[in-house]
Amino acid sequence: MARILKTDGMKKCIGCFTCMLVCSGLNRQNHSISKSAIRIKTSGGLSGKFVANACIACTGERACAESCPTGALDPRPGGGVILDSKKCISCRKCAKACIVGAVYFDELQNTPIICKHCGACARYCPHECLRMEEVSDDI
Ligand code: SF4
Ligand code: SF4
Ligand code: SF4
Repeated sequence: MARILKTDGMKKCIGCFTCMLVCSGLNRQNHSISKSAIRIKTSGGLSGKFVANACIACTGERACAESCPTGALDPRPGGGVILDSKKCISCRKCAKACIVGAVYFDELQNTPIICKHCGACARYCPHECLRMEEVSDDI
């Protein structure tokens, strides 16, 4: 069964950014939070809560994949997409097309940062704000 990242426990978030550090470190071998596929932001104001922005694992038509002129984004079973970086021409159309603005760009490698739904961020969150959900393997 496929698993997808869910960010529905954000009421408990204290803004420690562990999820971003883990994602950057494990997936990009980089300790800058700018390489993370998940971004934590304040919802505004001094007492604002934190919100998470990450791929919501679209099924059916994926706007990011549809917009890619080279077919570099393949549907991932269960939702979301898998990047074939050999096919990517760094046009950034996927970043513009993502329906939740969750495709960030690695300026150094010149490739999009695509969530793999690996669950590392959820595993390391000390407050269990993030979790993985089992879904069917359907494309
Ligand atoms: S940046 Fe790469 S993956 Fe994104 S749309 Fe362009 S070619 Fe496709
Ligand atoms: S990157 Fe954006 S458009 Fe693509 S599957 Fe994830 S949420 Fe959907
Ligand atoms: S599920 Fe994996 S790739 Fe996606 S944001 Fe979390 S650590 Fe990054």
